[in-house]
Amino acid sequence: MEAREVIRGNLSDVRREVAEACRHVGRDPDSVKLVAVTKYADWEWVRHLATLHHSFGEARPQQLAERQPQLPDVEWHLIGQLQRNKVRIALQHAALIHSVDSLKLLERISTVAGDLKVHPSVLLEVNVSGEASKSGFSSSTLQTEWPQICRHAGAVNIAGLMTMAPASDDPENARPAFRGLRKLRDQLAAQPVSQSAGLQLPELSMGMSGDFAVAVEEGATLIRIGSRLFDGLCR
Ligand SMILES: *Cc1c(COP(=O)(O)O)cnc(C)c1O
Repeated sequence: MEAREVIRGNLSDVRREVAEACRHVGRDPDSVKLVAVTKYADWEWVRHLATLHHSFGEARPQQLAERQPQLPDVEWHLIGQLQRNKVRIALQHAALIHSVDSLKLLERISTVAGDLKVHPSVLLEVNVSGEASKSGFSSSTLQTEWPQICRHAGAVNIAGLMTMAPASDDPENARPAFRGLRKLRDQLAAQPVSQSAGLQLPELSMGMSGDFAVAVEEGATLIRIGSRLFDGLCR
């Protein structure tokens, strides 16, 4: 089968599973945005996918900077770790940065956004499960630093939170991390300091190829799907 047809089939399978998960919990499928993660995808596959889908995610700022100008009509997100010296590149090419993992990085984004006269949207990455190998704010640090974060946001719109669940063969093992992220969002959004900063944190970026159905049940508004879309293709 042609790569284009394989991708079309995978995409419609994923969309159907998202719709099913939405039906389980009474959500509108339009409230979930699928971000197609292309970090391991050949450029040819990305071009096929761009005829069918319009939100893409890259993990590395450099790759984002190479690809975004070649497909400027789709929306590109940065989902991977961002070093402070790459903030300018990220702001020039990303519609949304999912991976702000420290107050220092947020401050840097705010400064560069001021230079570039842009008002970027970002998500704060939270290490809900507390695994040592993962980056992100711990839930407790985020709660402690929240007033400072609200003060430092400046021109940056903090649109919500992102997490990665522990890797596992059983998607149910991801549920506590997803539920934890949603609870944390609800707590932060309810604070008076959030309301005075105009922060409602509507977005929850959670769920990948192995666990997106559970994430949707737990309230994900952005799911980041890579390998499932390119299943059955070899490079
Ligand atoms: C690679 C990646 C994904 C997609 O992972 P798959 O398991 O291939 O769907 C999602 N989020 C982040 C941050 C990633 O780096």
